[in-house]
Amino acid sequence: MNAFDLGKFEEEAQEKWTHAFESNPSNLEKCYLTVAYPYPSGAMHVGHGRTYIVPDVIARFWRMRGKQVLYPMAFHVTGAPVIGISKRIAKHDPKTIHLYRDLYKVPQNVLEEFTDPLTIVRHFASEYQRVMTACGISIDWRRRFTTVDPTYSKFIEWQWKHLFEAGHVIKGAHPVRYCTVDDNPVGDHDLLEGDKAEVIKFTLVMFHLGDAFIPTATLRPETIYGVTNLWVNPNVTYVKALVDGSAWIISQEAAEKLALQDHAVELLEEIQGRDLIEKIVSHPLCGKVPILPADFVDPDLASGLVMSVPAHAPFDYIALRDLQHAGKYTQIKPVPLIKVEGYGEIPAQDAVEKGGITHQMDSRMDSLTQEIYSAEFSKGKLFDKYGGKPVRVARDEIAALMIEKFASKIMYEFDTRPVVCRCGNKVKVKILHDQWFLKYSDPAWKTQVSDHLGDMALVPPEVRLEFDRTVDWLKDWACTRRVGLGTRFPWDTTQLIEPLSDSTIYMAYYTIAHKIREIDPRLLTPEVFDFIYLGKESPELPERKKLEAMRKEFLYWYPYNYRFSAKDLISNHLTFQLFHHVTIFPKDKLPLGMVVFGMGLLNGAKMSSSKGNVFLLEDAVSDFGADTVRMFLMGSAEPWQDFDWRNELVISTKKQIERFFNWVLESKDAAGEPHDIDRWLISRLQSHINRTTDALTNFQTRQALQEAYFGIETDLKWYRRRLIKNSDGSRELHTLCSAWIRLLAPFIPFTAEHLWKELAGEGLVSFAPWPVANEKLVNSRIELSEELISRTVEDIESIRKLIQITPKSITISIAPAWKHEIFLIIAKSNDRTTVIKEIMTDDAMRRRGKEATDAVKQCTTLIHRLPPHIVELLARESINEMAVFEAAKIFLEEEFGVPVHITEAESSEHAKAVTALPFKPAIIIE
Ligand SMILES: [Zn+2]
Repeated sequence: MNAFDLGKFEEEAQEKWTHAFESNPSNLEKCYLTVAYPYPSGAMHVGHGRTYIVPDVIARFWRMRGKQVLYPMAFHVTGAPVIGISKRIAKHDPKTIHLYRDLYKVPQNVLEEFTDPLTIVRHFASEYQRVMTACGISIDWRRRFTTVDPTYSKFIEWQWKHLFEAGHVIKGAHPVRYCTVDDNPVGDHDLLEGDKAEVIKFTLVMFHLGDAFIPTATLRPETIYGVTNLWVNPNVTYVKALVDGSAWIISQEAAEKLALQDHAVELLEEIQGRDLIEKIVSHPLCGKVPILPADFVDPDLASGLVMSVPAHAPFDYIALRDLQHAGKYTQIKPVPLIKVEGYGEIPAQDAVEKGGITHQMDSRMDSLTQEIYSAEFSKGKLFDKYGGKPVRVARDEIAALMIEKFASKIMYEFDTRPVVCRCGNKVKVKILHDQWFLKYSDPAWKTQVSDHLGDMALVPPEVRLEFDRTVDWLKDWACTRRVGLGTRFPWDTTQLIEPLSDSTIYMAYYTIAHKIREIDPRLLTPEVFDFIYLGKESPELPERKKLEAMRKEFLYWYPYNYRFSAKDLISNHLTFQLFHHVTIFPKDKLPLGMVVFGMGLLNGAKMSSSKGNVFLLEDAVSDFGADTVRMFLMGSAEPWQDFDWRNELVISTKKQIERFFNWVLESKDAAGEPHDIDRWLISRLQSHINRTTDALTNFQTRQALQEAYFGIETDLKWYRRRLIKNSDGSRELHTLCSAWIRLLAPFIPFTAEHLWKELAGEGLVSFAPWPVANEKLVNSRIELSEELISRTVEDIESIRKLIQITPKSITISIAPAWKHEIFLIIAKSNDRTTVIKEIMTDDAMRRRGKEATDAVKQCTTLIHRLPPHIVELLARESINEMAVFEAAKIFLEEEFGVPVHITEAESSEHAKAVTALPFKPAIIIE
């Protein structure tokens, strides 16, 4: 009884795999793969599934190729999110309860204990392990840890001691993302929205209005000379506030923000925006200008009021034009101040008119604005009367002048909004004092990282640009938090090391994780880690033997070969870990490579736990089987591409696995004598082996499956068709099945393990030797012959469909030798456009006249249509078409149920026979 039952295969294999993937140093070459450890605060969805299955496929591949493979896993529980979750559950927040009870299916009695944050992470950590195991992910679970284990904290303290001694940990005042509700800086993981937002610096240009200032925020202080008016939103309630002792008129939001940015702010009174309209303000650099109304002014952006430079800012230009069309303020003219190549005197007017933009809401306004800003910044020059300097020089100089002489201040704001904390509060920019930072802005540190990046393998290669950019732009990073789980910051124990700063070199910790827990954490001084990781001797090291064993593990496994992670981690984690590695480890222990993943979609929309658009991995495994989930995730896209989970496609993947299963069961016991068609099958197998191997070496899981599954299946279908009637095939099928099972084992390990046993394969297929192509078994003559037959069969089928008669006979007419000559000359030629001249220099050809020139054209077209590798083979290998078809005559007659005649085209009387070409005989159906 051998039915296709994925559930049963899973059970069988799990039993055998319990300790199979525990990996120790050996004489074999090592391959150490790691993936970003999960933060277990919710259930895994199929997107997570791919993240862990891709490295697993690669791990299984290299294991079968004879390497000692290590694939470990741990759980990242540092930080505040889980604390927020536990608080919300304690408060019976309906949304959170719904997510955890209904979507993540946490039983009620467990959910009640979620008021303790550690219970949440423990619960999901064991669930992660259970589901990963169910997916067949070949992890060495002995090395599992969490980032709040006392031994891990000792390791982190050691790491930070080195960062500190290298001068990378500094204390200072810095603008950071801040949540005023949590009273805590906010990291990427803590955000609901806006994780790409950067903090940027506005200059506040201080206009006088009576005894008060109106600060307008700008990124282009040099344009002060072209200000024609200010904009105020008439529908907004502004405030007058004492800021550092002087009166400012600003939005309410701005007052709150300034208070977070080192200003003493005291509210005096409310002022309606509409009451400011047509008031006259002044600034020493532009004189007197009026305040005009504009709905587009956002009170939540910087100071809430802006200056208007219609000559250089498209928004200002259009807003002014709209007022003037209504007959208002017609005396105001744009004041240009920058000369820039490619634009007329008034660049904003130019751009708006060329773009045919008629109103402020046009979607092209942002890109137009950006275009003018960059053009002016990169090649613009101020008019001589304003100093004549290039914009990029003048900008900073004028900002400095304003700050020194004209009361200007700096205000920090995000470049994109909104930025929303997980708690739902809008995140603001706060200047933190006494905040600890990792000094990623340090140019010397950046250079070290860039130098190493240059030596690393990055997959896919296009991500290199993004890494370079990140290293370039990275600013100092607030590395401690007041609230959360994690390791206490050694120089201020009221603070904790935040999650993106305690997860950078733990790949080195995996190498010793299963052994270090045998040592009392109190003995784990920095000297202990210095010995394990850096080989530094010191007197009185405890547990010397154990430390030596750990040192041996580290030296064997490190550096890691590849780190796998999603592409949204390039801008933080994946780059941070390089900064930390270059500081702590010697050159020969620095990371070797990274593989960056695309995103997961569910029915075309981005997967998101918080929005409920997820399909749980565990449900997928129980609905479709682990092998189906694996094969679908690996086959639907390459790892770096986005994939889209659709149940209907997943179902057809399951059918493919079933077909494979049936093919193997039907074929494995065949015992017939091999014929040419068997040699063809085995010859083809060699290239499938080569191409699957190449694809997996390059992490192309999709390409590998195309070869290993579809390539071989297509061959088998043809093979079955070509078998003599009533034959089960030859014993070569056993060879094919043995290789086929192994080629698919990394993708569908459960089914493969089951079938491997059916074939009486030795040991576990997970450790069986990967198939190696044998070039001696490659027979290009037989491959070409079969290609010719299968193409001819296809041609006959399509002609039959076209003419729609019941055929009485089929004649295959073979091209004459001289056409073969032409074909060969063209196939071998480097320049197929001039080859006709070369051919016609031959006397015999010239005598054939039009017939020959036609043949050249037809052969050229045919060569373009044939796959390049076939043309290449034909150029090398000659086949006797007559003999090939004679040998296949019985097959063809059986296929089509009519007599088949094979003739030489030149001796045929049929008019169509002249169309015969090499590798494309004329087909006459009568
Ligand atoms: Zn918050």
